[in-house]
Amino acid sequence: MKSLIFIGPTFYQRLTHMSEDKVKFRNTGPVHPLTRQPVEDKKRFGGVKFGEMERDCLLGHGAAASLHERLFMLSDFSQMHICQVCERVANVIMRPDDSGKKIHGPYCLFCRSVERIVRINVPYGAKILYQELFSMGICLKFETETR
Ligand SMILES: [Zn+2]
Repeated sequence: MKSLIFIGPTFYQRLTHMSEDKVKFRNTGPVHPLTRQPVEDKKRFGGVKFGEMERDCLLGHGAAASLHERLFMLSDFSQMHICQVCERVANVIMRPDDSGKKIHGPYCLFCRSVERIVRINVPYGAKILYQELFSMGICLKFETETR
């Protein structure tokens, strides 16, 4: 070959973006201790952020059941007991029954009764709001329907 050929070292770095490192999924996992909502960050096995834009997109398509599952059932699902007599929250406590035996269950401290107490599903964020308002002397009442 009658030509000048340049031969020299060539360096390159391969990209370190590996699909194995990109995979991020979870069904259930760690939750924040205060809000009980899924933690952020892949390193802590957190959830994929489902924010306002994703919510608005689903609202535009009329997908209420999907939103309910995404933002409530898979996030900070919680339950509260409500006394239907006084419409206040009934606490789950350990107390002695009529025979003196200790029993554990929902009990309305206002009515001093276990009658007509129902269990409702609420986001844990709503429960925290109720508790914080209660600590400031504001007691919310919950109207419930019997099904
Ligand atoms: Zn009550």
